[in-house]
Amino acid sequence: MQTLVIEHPLVAHKVTVLRDERTDSPTFRLLVEELVTLLAYEATREVRTVPVHITTPVAQTEGVKLADPRPLVVPILRAGLGMLAGMTRLLPTAEVGFLGMIRDENTLVASTYAERLPDDLAGRQCYLLDPMLATGGTLSAAIGFLTRRGADHVTAICLLAAPEGCARLEAELASIDVPVTIVTAAMDQRLNEKGYIVPGLGDAGDRLYGVVSA
Ligand code: URA
Repeated sequence: MQTLVIEHPLVAHKVTVLRDERTDSPTFRLLVEELVTLLAYEATREVRTVPVHITTPVAQTEGVKLADPRPLVVPILRAGLGMLAGMTRLLPTAEVGFLGMIRDENTLVASTYAERLPDDLAGRQCYLLDPMLATGGTLSAAIGFLTRRGADHVTAICLLAAPEGCARLEAELASIDVPVTIVTAAMDQRLNEKGYIVPGLGDAGDRLYGVVSA
């Protein structure tokens, strides 16, 4: 597994505003989109292309276009949805699938409660969107799900990551024979006793969409 922490002043600026508890939901949503677009630029460095021959108004030349099958973008519900617009701005022709993951509070095991994905992901490059790589349980289960369907290249874009979650992913993905890359705007210090990233930004879903009472 490869972990890329994107060091760029614009990324650091936007992360700082996201972290600030005074940032309201509309501003938070906008910043998440902008940040994901910046991260997506790095995350798609290895997106597959094929050569094409084109004619400009001046001459004939060679270029590239995205290869088929198209990349598949998969936001993990709920908070990953807030990252989708920022990703599709950069990859408008990507296909989009959805994965709903829930964690059993007793066993802490993540399982899938909803999915809308092609049955066969053979030959697909997949881009998972999940804002917070905290314990790593959800992301590990999501990556396992995609690779069991045949995905042969998985990149996860996370706004923030915790060292504990990255270590868990390293261990759990060691037996998976598929290249996995984590792209994040910051590697934070640690998890607290409730599993929140410190210093973090709080609950990403609540900050995007507000607190939903059951
Ligand atoms: N999920 C969140 O939304 N925030 C955290 O800090 C950890 C997990």
